[in-house]
Amino acid sequence: MHGLRTAIVGGGIGGCALALSLHAAGLGDVEVFEAASQIGEIGVGINVLPHAVRELTELGLATSLDARAIRTAALAYHNRFGQRIWTEPRGVAAGYRWPQWSIHRGELFGVLQRSVVERLGRARFHPGHPITTSAQLVELSAGFDVVVGCDGVHSIARSMLVPDEGPPLWNGVTMWRGATVMAPFLDGRTMIMAGVVAHRMVVYPIRDLPAGRQLVNWVAEVRTDDGRPMPRQQWNREVDVAEPLAWFADFRFDWLDVPAMIAAADHVLAYPMVDRDPLATWRRGNTTLLGDAAHPMYPVGSNGASQAIIDARVLARELALGATVTDALDAYQRNRLPATAAVVRANRMAGPERCMEIVGELAPQGFQRLDDVISHAELEELATSYRSVAGFDPTVLNDRPSLDVP
Ligand SMILES: Cc1cc2nc3c(=O)[nH]c(=O)nc-3n(C[C@H](O)[C@H](O)[C@H](O)COP(=O)(O)OP(=O)(O)OC[C@H]3O[C@@H](n4cnc5c(N)ncnc54)[C@H](O)[C@@H]3O)c2cc1C
Repeated sequence: MHGLRTAIVGGGIGGCALALSLHAAGLGDVEVFEAASQIGEIGVGINVLPHAVRELTELGLATSLDARAIRTAALAYHNRFGQRIWTEPRGVAAGYRWPQWSIHRGELFGVLQRSVVERLGRARFHPGHPITTSAQLVELSAGFDVVVGCDGVHSIARSMLVPDEGPPLWNGVTMWRGATVMAPFLDGRTMIMAGVVAHRMVVYPIRDLPAGRQLVNWVAEVRTDDGRPMPRQQWNREVDVAEPLAWFADFRFDWLDVPAMIAAADHVLAYPMVDRDPLATWRRGNTTLLGDAAHPMYPVGSNGASQAIIDARVLARELALGATVTDALDAYQRNRLPATAAVVRANRMAGPERCMEIVGELAPQGFQRLDDVISHAELEELATSYRSVAGFDPTVLNDRPSLDVP
C-alpha cells in the first residue's frame, strides 16, 4: 500500500523496530510519538534471541549491535546449591544462522533510535510527546491511515481498546535488577539461572570491558507476596542492595559468588513480575497494538523484546502487501495474536525454566545423581517444546523465508 501514513505511539524497542521495518518495506511516511524526552535507559540487560536477531540483521543492524553485545554461547540451569541441571548451546553454537545477543538495553535502544533518526529523518521522531488522552488517539486515527500502540505494558492505546481491564496482573514475584563489573564467571559467554521461580538468580554478561573484566547483568527474583493487580506507582523503585542480598546470602557457588556480585552493584531496581491476559482482538478501526502493549508477558525465556521485534516485521510486511489497511491489520493479528498468547501462557508455566521447578520440588535439598530426579529425555523435551512455542526452533527459523518485502 504505497503512500500509507503511519502514526506510532511509543518509540521503545517495538516502536523503533516498527518504524525501521516500515521504512525498509517502502512505507517510510511514519511519525513516532515518544513520551520520554531523552534516552534514559536504566533497564540494564536484555537477551535478544536468534529469531529476533534475524530480523534486526535483515534490517541492517547486525554490525552495530554485534559490536556492543556478548554473543551468548550457552544457557545453564542450576538448583539453589549451584548444581547443574541442564546446559544447552545458544545462538550460533546451537546451529542457528544468527547469534543470541546479551546486551545493555540502553545500547539496543540507542542503536534502534539512532537508526530511526538517520533513516527516516529527525523530524519524524518526536521525543517528549506523550499520547495520553483518547481525544489525542482519535485525532491520530483521523489524521493517519494506521495508528499502532507501541506504548508498553501501561499502554494508553490498549486501555482505550479495553477500558475496563485495570492494571497489569502481578504474580507476587519481586525482581531486583542490577549490573556489576567483575571478572567473568564460567566461560564468560554463559547465561545462568539458579533456584526456582519463587526464589532464583538469573545472571549473564552483557559487555566485555578492558583488563579482562565484564559488565554482568543479574536479576534476583523472589515471591514476596500472593500476587494482585499492580498499580503503576509501585513500579521501578530504586532500592538498597540489602533488599536482594537478604534473600541470596547463601547462594555461594564454587563458580560464582552471588552475594559478592549483588553487593558490588552500583544501584538496584525493583520491579513486579507482571503480565496480562491475552486479548481477543488488537484492532479497533485503523488502530492496533504491538509489543508489550499487545501481549505483556513474564520475563521468562527472554522473549518480550524479541516478540515485539517480530511483531514489527510482520506488521510492516502485511501493510506493504495487503489490499486494505483492515485486511493488513487482521492478517497481522491472525499471525501474531495466537502466537504471542501461547508464549504468555507458556511463561506462566515457567516456560523453558520448568525443569528448575521440577528439580526444586523433587530434590529441595539438592541431588547426588540428577538422573534419579529427572531424565535427560524429559529435560530435552522441556527445552524443545518452548523453542517451538516461542518460534525459535533452529530448523524452522533457519529454513523459513525472510519477512523482507520484495
Ligand atoms: C526484568 C525484566 C527483564 C526482561 N528481560 C528481557 C530479555 O532478556 N529479553 C527480552 O526479549 N525481553 C525482556 N524483557 C521484556 C522487554 O523489556 C519488553 O518486552 C520490551 O521492552 C517490549 O518493548 P515495547 O517496545 O513493546 O515496550 P517498551 O520497551 O516498554 O517501550 C514502550 C515505549 O513507549 C513509551 N510510552 C509509554 N507510554 C507512552 C505514551 N502514552 N505516549 C507515547 N509514548 C509512550 C515509553 O516511554 C517507551 O519508550 C524484560 C522485562 C523485564 C521487566
